[in-house]
This record gives sequence, structure tokens and C-alpha cells, in this order.
Amino acid sequence: MRWFNHELITGMAVFTTTGNIVAAVSAALGSSFPDVIEGRPGEEGSLQHSIWQRRHRKGSHWFVFYLIPLLFLLLYLSKNSSLVFSTGSFIEAIRLGLNDITALYPVIAYTLFYFLIGCIFHIAQDAITGTVPSLNPRKRTGVRFFTVGSIQEYIFTFSVVFLAVILYI
Ligand SMILES: [Zn+2]
Repeated sequence: MRWFNHELITGMAVFTTTGNIVAAVSAALGSSFPDVIEGRPGEEGSLQHSIWQRRHRKGSHWFVFYLIPLLFLLLYLSKNSSLVFSTGSFIEAIRLGLNDITALYPVIAYTLFYFLIGCIFHIAQDAITGTVPSLNPRKRTGVRFFTVGSIQEYIFTFSVVFLAVILYI
């Protein structure tokens, strides 16, 4: 899936469920991260491309790497999140954080939490256009419903965004 489609689907899904623009933007940024850390693919046939191909959708796409810190953040947020569940209270928490740095900790945890949600969304979305590492990182899982950059990918993206808008309004 193209980065733009990853970001659009993830950002819309998170905004629909949270109503928080910061969470949505953070998740959208996270939804490119597993590909960003693989570096640029380079020209096809070049050494850079073959190095990239060897590590493409390997460790960077193992969901457990993102799930473990996400669970710790969830535990932390379950005790400290009362300030950050809407965009308005989020801004209030930042304002408080200007006087008391500890008030910023839930804000940082919340932003990071959704960044990691974005990473996991990316991997789930890749699993419908090919394979990604499963719970056992040596084994792969996934179904190729459509190829990356195909018209079906754009129809899928449009459908998800359309559904998100319908659910939100
Ligand atoms: Zn990917």
C-alpha cells in the first residue's frame, strides 16, 4: 500500500474513533514508520535496491516490536489519561504542562500510543497486500487481496475513508 493511503486510512480511522486530531495525526505519521526505517529502495537493479529488498517487510514489520511498548503505554494511560481524551482537554494538558512538566507526561504517552497504533495499522494493511512476519517472526502471514498501487487499493482506501466519514457525521 502506498504511504499516502496508509496515512489516510489510519488517520481517518483514528479520528473517527477518538475525535482527537492530535491522535489522528500521530497515528498517520506512525503508519509510514515501518517503511521509513527500511530506508529508500533505490533504483531497481542497484545494490541499494537489493539490500532494501532483503530487509523489506522483515523485522521492521514485526507487530510485536510495536505491541509491547503500546501495552505499557496503555497501562500507564489507564491510570493517567483523564486529561487527554479530547482535542480541547489535550490542549489544556499542554497548557498545564508549561507550568508543570509532569502534566505533559500523559500527553506524550497518548501521542506515542497512537503513533504505535499507526505502526500496527500499517502492518495490518500490508498483510492484505502481501505477507508480514507473524507472531513467530520466522513465519509469515497475510493474503494478497490486491497489489500495491493498484486501482483496487485506491477503491479500498476510498471505501474506508467514506465509511469513516459516514460513521463520524
Ligand atoms: Zn510496509
